Amino acid sequence: MTNENNCTCGEQTTPKIFYVDEFQIRGSECPKCGKTFLNAEDVARYAEYRKGINVAERVVC
Ligand SMILES: [Zn+2]
Repeated sequence: MTNENNCTCGEQTTPKIFYVDEFQIRGSECPKCGKTFLNAEDVARYAEYRKGINVAERVVC
């Protein structure tokens, strides 16, 4: 049982790849409430690439 794949609502999230400015960010999405979770490592790589843009605000579900 892994809690890291669970949404805050308790539902298990499904893996998904997000594309932000053609940059691939691994993450997961909750099928119940639609909340998205991004891979922290990939977000850090993207932030480095984009020089500190707030990635969470750029990702549109
Ligand atoms: Zn949820």
